[in-house]
Amino acid sequence: MRVRINVTGIVQGVGFRPFIYRIATRNGLNGYVKNRGDAGVEVLLEGGKSAIQSFIKDLMEKKPPLAQIHEISRAELEGKEEYAEFSIHASSNEKELSGSIIPPDIAICSDCLKELRDPKDPRYEYFFITCTNCGPRFTIIEKLPYDRENTTMREFPMCSFCQSEYIDPSNRRFHAQTLACPKCGPHAYLTTQDGEVIEHNDPIREAGRLLSKGFILAIKGHGGFHIAATATKDRPLDRLRKTKHRSQKPFAVMARDLKAIRTFAHVSRKEAEFLTSYTRPIVLLDKNGDYYLSDLIAPNLHNVGVMLPYSGLHCMLFDKVSDPVFVMTSANPPNQPIIKDNEEALKTLGETVDYFLFHNRQIAQRCDDSVLRTHGNNLSFIRRSRGYVPAPIRLRKKSKQCVVALGGELNNTVCVLNENKAFVSQHLGDVENVETRELLENTLKHMVNLTNSKIEVIVCDLHPKFTTTAMARDLANENKWKLVQVQHHYAHIASLMAEHDTDEMVGVCCDGYGYGANGEAWGGEILLCSRETFDFKRLAHLEEQPLIGGDLATRFPLRTAGGILAKRTDVKDWLMQNQQHFPYGKKEIQLIIDQLEKDHSIVKTTSCGRILDAVSAILGVCYERTYEGEPAMKLESAAVNGKDVLKLEPIIRNNTLDTTQMLYEIYQNREKNRTADLAFSAHMYLAKGLSMLAMEKASEKGTKAIGFSGGVACNKILALKMRIAVEAVKFPFLVNEQVPAGDGGVSFGQAAAAGFSKI
Ligand code: ZN
Ligand code: ZN
Ligand code: FE
Repeated sequence: MRVRINVTGIVQGVGFRPFIYRIATRNGLNGYVKNRGDAGVEVLLEGGKSAIQSFIKDLMEKKPPLAQIHEISRAELEGKEEYAEFSIHASSNEKELSGSIIPPDIAICSDCLKELRDPKDPRYEYFFITCTNCGPRFTIIEKLPYDRENTTMREFPMCSFCQSEYIDPSNRRFHAQTLACPKCGPHAYLTTQDGEVIEHNDPIREAGRLLSKGFILAIKGHGGFHIAATATKDRPLDRLRKTKHRSQKPFAVMARDLKAIRTFAHVSRKEAEFLTSYTRPIVLLDKNGDYYLSDLIAPNLHNVGVMLPYSGLHCMLFDKVSDPVFVMTSANPPNQPIIKDNEEALKTLGETVDYFLFHNRQIAQRCDDSVLRTHGNNLSFIRRSRGYVPAPIRLRKKSKQCVVALGGELNNTVCVLNENKAFVSQHLGDVENVETRELLENTLKHMVNLTNSKIEVIVCDLHPKFTTTAMARDLANENKWKLVQVQHHYAHIASLMAEHDTDEMVGVCCDGYGYGANGEAWGGEILLCSRETFDFKRLAHLEEQPLIGGDLATRFPLRTAGGILAKRTDVKDWLMQNQQHFPYGKKEIQLIIDQLEKDHSIVKTTSCGRILDAVSAILGVCYERTYEGEPAMKLESAAVNGKDVLKLEPIIRNNTLDTTQMLYEIYQNREKNRTADLAFSAHMYLAKGLSMLAMEKASEKGTKAIGFSGGVACNKILALKMRIAVEAVKFPFLVNEQVPAGDGGVSFGQAAAAGFSKI
C-alpha cells in the first residue's frame, strides 16, 4: 500500500529526516521523506500494511530527543508503487499546514564535546562543532524550509569530508545543516579594539588568557555579542561599569562547570537540572558563604546569574586559564537590542572593550540568553529567550482565532497564537527607540512566516501612548486585522489562565506600572477574570499612593516614601537628612514639601512595586533606581535572612489594602530594628494582605483558583509566603512557569485573552 504522512511540530533541524530514513529502511519500506516550507515533514511510504504500522509505532516511540510531534496526519494513496528504495528528497516550499516551527538553539551535546577534546577527531578543538542533536538553529535560520542555503551557513560550502558524513545514514551528522569542520566551516579570530586582526594560531584560548589577565573582550556567540571580563578582579569590572554607564545592574557570569559554580553559590537539584539542560539558561543562584567573586558583579544582591558554556567556543575559553568563571553579559547599548553584526560591534563597543573575539558566520536572529530562577519547586522565568524560543507553549484548548499580540512597552516580546500553540518571541527589549521598534516589526513578520499563520486579530495594550498601540493600529489597518486592546494586568492574569487552562480566576497582579481600565496607574490589583467573556472586575487593590514628580518618584523612591509618610508625620527633617540622595538637594526637597501641601494633582498609583521601592528607600537599601526593579530586588536581598519582627496585621478597608501604616511602622522602627528584619516584615505584610484579600474574594465569588502574576511575582519571598497562606485553605495557587510573570509574558497573556474569548 501507499501512504502519505505529514508530521507537524518541531521536526526540522532535530535530525528528523535521518530518523525517518532509519525507521523506514529498518521496516523495509520504500518512498521518501522531505522537509516542507511550513516547517513540517512529509513522508511517502510504500510497502506492506504491517510494516507501515510498525513504522508509525517507531515514529511515535523512538523520535529524536529534541523533536516534538504535534500532529501526524496520514492518507492512503491510490496508484502503483513507484519507489525502489527509501531516500531523502530535496525540500519543497509547500506551505499548507501551520503551527510547525524550527527548534531553538541547542547547547553543545556530549558527543560533540567528546570529539572537541579528542586529538584524533577531525573536529578536535574546532569551536563550531555541532551535529543533528546540537548547535544553533533559531539564530541561523532566515527562512524555511530548514536547509543550509536558507541559513547563515550557506556561505560555507561543505568540504568532501563533511559531505561524506552528510550523506552517510549511519553518521550522527547525516543531513546536519550546521555541519562544518576547521577546513570548510566558520573560523574565529581576534582583533584589537579598532578591528585590527591579531595573528594567533589559537585565538579562542588566547581570548581566555586575555580575560584572565584583566582585559575586557567582546565575544561573538550564537545570538549576539557578549561582553566578557574577569569575575574576580575589581579593576576591569569597575572600568566596564563606567564605560557601559551601568553602575549597578548585575552582570551574568559563565562558569566552567557545576563544580566551579558550587564554590561560590548554592545549587539545588532543580537548579542543576536547568543549568545543565540543553537550553542552558542563566539561573539566578543564591551566593553562598564563600562567595569570592567581585562585589561589582551583582552589587547588593543575594543572588547572581550563572550559566554554563553552551558552545565549543565557550568551553575552550576556560582551557588555558585557572579562572573558574568569567563575566559574560549581553552587549547592547542602553535600551537597545543585543548587538549581532561584526561591523555594528566594532562601531558601538570599540570604546568599551580591549579586544574582539569574532567569528565569520553571520547571525540571522538576535537572541539574548534566557534568565530564570526557582521558587522552591516552581520555575520563574525572568526572560524566556535563547534555548526556548521559538518552541511553542502548548495549550490544552484551541484558540478561537489566529492572533498576534504586540505586548507592552518594556522588556517586550511578541506572540503568535495559532490554534493551541502560542509562539512567544525572544526578548526584544524596551520598545522606546527606533532600533527595538524595527526589531519588533521584523520579529513579528518572521514569527508569522515561520508558523505559517493566517492572522485575524492583532492585540495591544490599553495604553494610548505606547508605541506598540500605534503600531497595532497601523498593522490592523494595513492588513485588515481586527484590533483588540487588553488591559495590562488582565493580560498578566490571562497568561496564567492560559498556562493552567483555567476559565475563571481571582488573580493577584502586582507590578510596577500598568494603564488601568479607568486611565489611572495600577500595579497592585485583585482581579476576577473570566476567559470566555473577555471580562474582568477589579475587586480590590492596594491603597492609592502619591507619586511626587511621576517618573521621578519611580527613579528616586525617597520621593514616594516621603509622599506616603507625609500623611502621618512631618517628613521634612528626615528628607533633609537624606538630601544627598536628591539630585538637587535642599531645593528639591522644599519643592516636594510645597507640592505635598498645595498640589492636588499629584499622580497616584496602586503599584506594589512602588511600595517595595519606598520601603527600600526608607531602610537605606536603595535610593536610586538605575535599572528596572532595582530597589525592590535589593529589598528582597536585604530580607533574605530576616524575621517578621513587626508582625503587622493587614489593614483592609473598602477592598483596599492599607500601605501607609505599614510604611509608617517601618519608618518608626528603622533605627531600632535590623534592616533585614524590617525588610522581611514588609514582605510579610504584603504577602498576608494580598493573600487574605484574594482568599476572601475567591470564597465570595465561588472561584476555584487564585493566581499571582506581574513583575513582582518574581519575588521569591512574596510568592512563597502567599503560596503557603493560600494552600493552607486548600485553594490552588497558580503562578507562571512557561512565560515570565513580568512584562515578557504580557504578549502571551494578550494573545490568550483575545484568542479564547468570544469577541
Ligand atoms: Zn552535537
Ligand atoms: Zn568540512
Ligand atoms: Fe506588568
